[in-house]
Amino acid sequence: MSFETLGLGPNLLRSIGEVGYSTPTPIQEASIPLIIEGNDLIGIAQTGTGKTAAFTLPMLEKLERLTKDESRRGKTRALVLSPTRELVVQIHDNVSAYAKHLSLKVANIYGGVNEAPQKKALREGVDLVIATPGRLMDLMGQGCADFSGLEFFVLDEADRMLDMGFLPNIRKIVKDLPKKGRQTLLFSATLSRDIEKLTKEFLYRPKTVEIGKRTNPADTVRQCIHEVTKSAKISLLKHLLQDNDLYSVLVFTRTKHGADRVAKQLGKSKIPTAAIHSNRTQNQRARALQDFKDGKTRVLVATDIAARGIDVEGITHVINFDFPPNAEDYVHRIGRTGRANQAGEAISFITSEDQGALRLLERKIKKSIYRKKVLGFNPSQESASSKPSFPREAKSSGGSSFRSNKPGGFNKFGGGGSNRRRTSQHRGGR
Ligand code: AMP
Repeated sequence: MSFETLGLGPNLLRSIGEVGYSTPTPIQEASIPLIIEGNDLIGIAQTGTGKTAAFTLPMLEKLERLTKDESRRGKTRALVLSPTRELVVQIHDNVSAYAKHLSLKVANIYGGVNEAPQKKALREGVDLVIATPGRLMDLMGQGCADFSGLEFFVLDEADRMLDMGFLPNIRKIVKDLPKKGRQTLLFSATLSRDIEKLTKEFLYRPKTVEIGKRTNPADTVRQCIHEVTKSAKISLLKHLLQDNDLYSVLVFTRTKHGADRVAKQLGKSKIPTAAIHSNRTQNQRARALQDFKDGKTRVLVATDIAARGIDVEGITHVINFDFPPNAEDYVHRIGRTGRANQAGEAISFITSEDQGALRLLERKIKKSIYRKKVLGFNPSQESASSKPSFPREAKSSGGSSFRSNKPGGFNKFGGGGSNRRRTSQHRGGR
């Protein structure tokens, strides 16, 4: 199957070629023709399956085709709701690449930044709005948005939106959208009872496309546990980071405050680190993510919410500095590594308080996670483990034979080789 057979026009085919996609992923193959035919659609697919292109490509195709309709001129014709600012930006990046040869205007709407340019864009009229529910509600409340000409409404990551408590906002937004002439698409990683209810509320005779789940990261990512006291966690983290195989590391903490604290401590030890959580400004979050993608920072410390759906290529290790209380978050976190068939490793710090959550997790994923002793780690000798250099001989993450999958090998942060990552735009879908 090729993109040419899915009903997309020459302008889109050209940009698809330019971003380097040669064949559609299964979700794209199934969804694109159904959306072009005009169906409402329920797409059950996770991030990483190519679902963004699955809904944006046919939508852009139809927006381009109808662009001569006078009555819709100047009005917003498509609205995509997504749970986090990072996802909005990610969708926007994709849309910008796909729509390179189309003449459509697109606006991003999300909180944490000055609302004036967003208001201006909405007032002047854009074809497509990509938004988080909170800020959009604010701007709608101020009378800035006119959705009376809306042809497409997309709910992306619907299950996460419910988890994050956005349902009341979404209901209010949908109340102001036209029912007639609107095509609604809903994407979710799971089809829970709540999601089913939502589809009945918002969609009309929808078709359903369900793409087999990505391999469960709990089956493919190498996992281990280090038992540690609360107070020794930071020394253990610094100790592990002496190993240059930990090349691109996503560290999860439970709280925003905790994320800042860990980032500060690593910074003091001259380990290039950034933190990402919802208290940081949008600019700070965007810069932290970009620096991590570009390989300028080696460690990104994040809370669960900020890390939702983040698509960064080549994360070699996920470290659960704070063990997550539920199994779903654990699987989600460790799925940030080992993507696109690269090797990945997940390390969890377990204190006596985490033993209950660990037992529940092991029951859920039906396997026991390897308890690994950390060779050469002595929390009372913290200063010895906080040196900024990463000597190969000091390798001490318990004898891991894991090798960095980075071009240029393990000594990237000691210099040598290009450490630039490709952005999500140019990587193979799964
Ligand atoms: P998504 O599931 O939308 O987050 O997409 C995951 C990744 O796959 C993104 O980096 C996309 O750029 C990439 N991608 C999407 N469709 C294709 C395709 N047909 N061929 C190769 N890569 C793709």
